[in-house]
Amino acid sequence: MTASAHTRTVDLRQASHRCDACGAPARVLVILTNGGDLVFCEHHARQYRDALKPITVLFEHLPDGPGSA
Ligand SMILES: [Zn+2]
Repeated sequence: MTASAHTRTVDLRQASHRCDACGAPARVLVILTNGGDLVFCEHHARQYRDALKPITVLFEHLPDGPGSA
């Protein structure tokens, strides 16, 4: 898989992604200053938000989509 910067933002709204930390359904997208991106569940988004803040360019809660609990 090749790394493509930020295209995941759109894809994330259409597919069910998993939290990078625990594998739960992702609810928050984080774009980093180095061009990387992470997705987290609500729990891990809160846990890592402050730690990632210095290197975060976007911290976005995803809208609830069909099929979400
Ligand atoms: Zn998680």
